[in-house]
Amino acid sequence: MARAIIITGGNMGDVKPRLRQAQQMINAGIGIVLRCSHVYESKAWGFTAADDFKNQAMEVDTDLAPEELLAALQEIEGRLGRDREAEAAEKARTGEPYSSRLIDIDIIFYDDAVVDTPRLKLPHPLMQERDFVLAPLAEIAPEKVHPVLGKTVEQLRGELLARQAAVHNGEA
Ligand code: ADP
Ligand code: MG
Repeated sequence: MARAIIITGGNMGDVKPRLRQAQQMINAGIGIVLRCSHVYESKAWGFTAADDFKNQAMEVDTDLAPEELLAALQEIEGRLGRDREAEAAEKARTGEPYSSRLIDIDIIFYDDAVVDTPRLKLPHPLMQERDFVLAPLAEIAPEKVHPVLGKTVEQLRGELLARQAAVHNGEA
């Protein structure tokens, strides 16, 4: 049994009920959802989008191995209507690195596993740069230590917010 921390999110249409459905599907098909954050709203990260994102973090106990967990989450994304081909076409059209999506489910931590393959990277490589990940994570797992960076979620969030404030104040 492993403990995973997962982030769900999306910015198209009515996102909140979809996040609730994702949580139910995770609980039914992947493992017991032990804790769940509130839904956080934020501007699109890394690209321009008409609609803001909503994100939620959850802690799940699962018997699935990391690769199996990723496949199961991608299957749930598909059942909730995620259309990767439409997203690829949208990215090609806009030239942006990301696109709007109905649902995105990422694995942030899987116990203290460190994985670096083309298909799966753990912990999620950009989590420490994204407050839309760190804010909900800080609600459910503030003391969780990043297995590579050796800092807690709370510390990583404090550092990110300080870096953002420095940029904002013209200090960086
Ligand atoms: P985004 O980077 O916006 O989440 P996608 O959801 O399309 O984009 O994911 C792109 C690829 O990222 C997936 O096909 C998956 O193989 C890979 N990936 C690598 N590490 C992870 C992770 N920790 N969680 C989810 N997907 C991952
Ligand atoms: Mg994803």
